[in-house]
Amino acid sequence: MALRDSYNRTIRDLRISLTDRCNFRCFYCLPSGKPALARKDTILSFEEIFRISSIFVSLGIEKIRLTGGEPLIRRDVPLLVEKLATLKPRLKDIALTTNGYDFPRFAEELKRAGLDRVTLSLDSLQRERFADITGVDALDRALAAIDAAKEFGFEPVKVNAVIVRGRNDDELADFARFARERGITMRFIEFMPLDSEQNWTREAMVSGAEMRDRIADVFPLELKETKRGAGTSWRYTFADGAPGEIGIIAPVTDMFCGQCSRVRLTSDGQIRTCLFSEREHDLRSLIRSGAAEGEIVEFIERCVYQKELGHKINDPDFVQPTRTMSFIGG
Ligand code: SAM
Ligand code: SF4
Repeated sequence: MALRDSYNRTIRDLRISLTDRCNFRCFYCLPSGKPALARKDTILSFEEIFRISSIFVSLGIEKIRLTGGEPLIRRDVPLLVEKLATLKPRLKDIALTTNGYDFPRFAEELKRAGLDRVTLSLDSLQRERFADITGVDALDRALAAIDAAKEFGFEPVKVNAVIVRGRNDDELADFARFARERGITMRFIEFMPLDSEQNWTREAMVSGAEMRDRIADVFPLELKETKRGAGTSWRYTFADGAPGEIGIIAPVTDMFCGQCSRVRLTSDGQIRTCLFSEREHDLRSLIRSGAAEGEIVEFIERCVYQKELGHKINDPDFVQPTRTMSFIGG
């Protein structure tokens, strides 16, 4: 059984946003002010998330990533992971994306519960700048999270940095040095037009090619694979054989929609077949109406079939989605 869209792409990855709330206010995602948050009664319960996940897994989903907002803000995430782990081995991989603030506290429990991988976010290695970018003075906690990920065996540890011109692009080589020293994968992501204040500009975005070249000027790189890792990142090793890895994720300038294998579930139970979807599919209402499994399966298959060919960021008539990354689940 496999989920396929009308362009014959097979869907294997489900990203689940556990909450649209966050303890950070990254300027490129969810800046200060009062963001529009989902009402509490519209947020899916863990029982609902598990039911939906098990149906998706029966339809061929192999990877589930828990994200948000900040997923670790929800209570008892290890219990959800433990439930999801009962879907293995058909479910091959359970991953988490977190800003790391609370990760050290839960790392051991998450590992025991069956979490396979973690991706952490880190947008600066400078304390004041980290606070400026995220709104929280927590560089030490983000670094501790990387240590905890290593300590509890979430190898290879992947760390994401969104690079924005004039904010942190001068740290590209420092991040690469950090990857070498810690033996981690540093992944650099192009700034996408998904910020709540709609401040994205093409000039603020640093292209994947520029990021790669600026790193390679300091630390020569070798392309590791001729195919993109997980369909999204170009992976590089250091030419001098140093540990660590560099990933370049360039959704804007080097789009990978043709290989996309993802669908997303928002925290309020809407299926989004693309980050940039202009419409959502209301799975929550269907689930809460007491629908039989067959009906839910049909609904999911229909949604997936309608998956968009690709994003339109580079088209003149592009419209930025009203839901931001924190809502959709990055
Ligand atoms: N709160 C968690 C975190 O920050 O890791 C998980 C959710 S966050 C929305 C997931 C990822 O999306 C993060 O790595 C973040 O850097 C990225 N992200 C958020 N807004 C973005 C934007 N406008 N462009 C590119 N990446 C973005
Ligand atoms: Fe929160 Fe993550 Fe968005 Fe930053 S990127 S505001 S940590 S959800």
